[in-house]
Amino acid sequence: MEKYNPFDNFIKVLEQAAKIAGIPEQEYDFLRYAEREMKVSLPIHMDDGSIKVFEGYRVQHSTVRGPAKGGIRFHQEVDIDDVKALAAMMSFKCAVAGIPYGGAKGGVTVDPKSISKTELERLTRKYATAVLPIVGPYKDIPAPDVGSTPQMMDWFMDTYSAFMGCTVAGVVTGKDIIVGGSKGRNEATGRGVTITAIEYMKRNNINPKDITVAIQGMGNVGSITSGFIEKEGCKIVAVSDVSGGVACDSGLNAKEICDFLDKGRRLLKDYDAPGIKRISNADLLVYPCDLLIPAALQQQITKDNAGDIKAKFIVEAANGPTTEEADVILKQRGIPVVPDILANGGGVVVSYFEWVQDNAGFMWEEEEVNQKLGIVMRNAFRDVDQIADEFKCSFRDAAYILAAKRICGAQKLRGFMF
Ligand code: NAD
Repeated sequence: MEKYNPFDNFIKVLEQAAKIAGIPEQEYDFLRYAEREMKVSLPIHMDDGSIKVFEGYRVQHSTVRGPAKGGIRFHQEVDIDDVKALAAMMSFKCAVAGIPYGGAKGGVTVDPKSISKTELERLTRKYATAVLPIVGPYKDIPAPDVGSTPQMMDWFMDTYSAFMGCTVAGVVTGKDIIVGGSKGRNEATGRGVTITAIEYMKRNNINPKDITVAIQGMGNVGSITSGFIEKEGCKIVAVSDVSGGVACDSGLNAKEICDFLDKGRRLLKDYDAPGIKRISNADLLVYPCDLLIPAALQQQITKDNAGDIKAKFIVEAANGPTTEEADVILKQRGIPVVPDILANGGGVVVSYFEWVQDNAGFMWEEEEVNQKLGIVMRNAFRDVDQIADEFKCSFRDAAYILAAKRICGAQKLRGFMF
């Protein structure tokens, strides 16, 4: 079977959006390519004295609207095509949010849970030195993604700063607060997903109190979204993580589950409560509910299960959870999808606030960060919604049209001289 290529998937969605909006191919052709792709080898000492070589990547898809921006994924299945697709999606996500960044992504092919903390520190620092020539607070600003943590960002910042001879907090975001992180960053993606879901409900006269929700993935994004969405009055009926899922039609207790999971230190397979039933991840995606929130990995909703999804609408918290083929099926079935590049932009928006604070020496209170985040997310939803109305297209097509217009518009004004 031919391997699924997420970057090809991105290009297909881009081409379709350009066609709907009549953007000439000549104007968006450059978006089919990453500006820069770097592959690095990372030999490190393991705790037992042996030397092991890992592989890493950094891809800068676009710097047309500002410095490249995007997380670093530490996962055993990361390859260059994943990183390229995720980098392109970052260019589009920053453009949809209207923040002055381009897009990038990094990755290291490793299961971070399979190595010790000291090995992880050496690997993170080695990666930082390997990509050092192309990163910097005005060039490319990494952040955490799946498998990476604030502590790893602190090590990254410390390594970069050691080479520069001074502390450069703005080289990376998602740091711990005492080394220049922003208040509200940890919750930002989940908060943004919830704001977007609520905006969608308002637009469609849906009362959150009438809504049942299933969430795939209970890591940073899924667990925080579960808490916020429950506070809005929605009833969470199913959640899952890598170990499987639990469901309860009369409602799960999100706070109790998050406390049990203890920020990824425990797995759902070990959680128990009266009235719950165990389900698989495959079951979760087709579980009867109103709102499905995929918040785990990419390529979860495919042509094989899109026909069985029972949710009335989907809000994508994960990056790339729906394949292009599945998207077609969902469109045919009239199931609206609020796409990743709109719904999960909260993380990069507060990363932008962190970068602004680091570079300018500001320290904003959490209320200020949350208020600013709310404004950016609601504006982005409004802009995408207007385009969806104008072109009578899906939210995904509308978000891609908005982003392509903003990036191509900036490129046109800057010109193609250099
Ligand atoms: P995380 O590592 O904290 O959590 C991932 C969760 O997915 C865990 O609960 C894990 O058990 C679960 N999972 C892993 N494999 C699974 C599988 N095969 N089936 C079901 N569940 C599985 O990661 P995160 O930071 O919460 O990111 C989740 C998604 O959100 C990713 O797609 C990421 O790119 C995207 N995202 C994250 C942020 C952020 O700020 N963290 C921002 C934007 C987008």
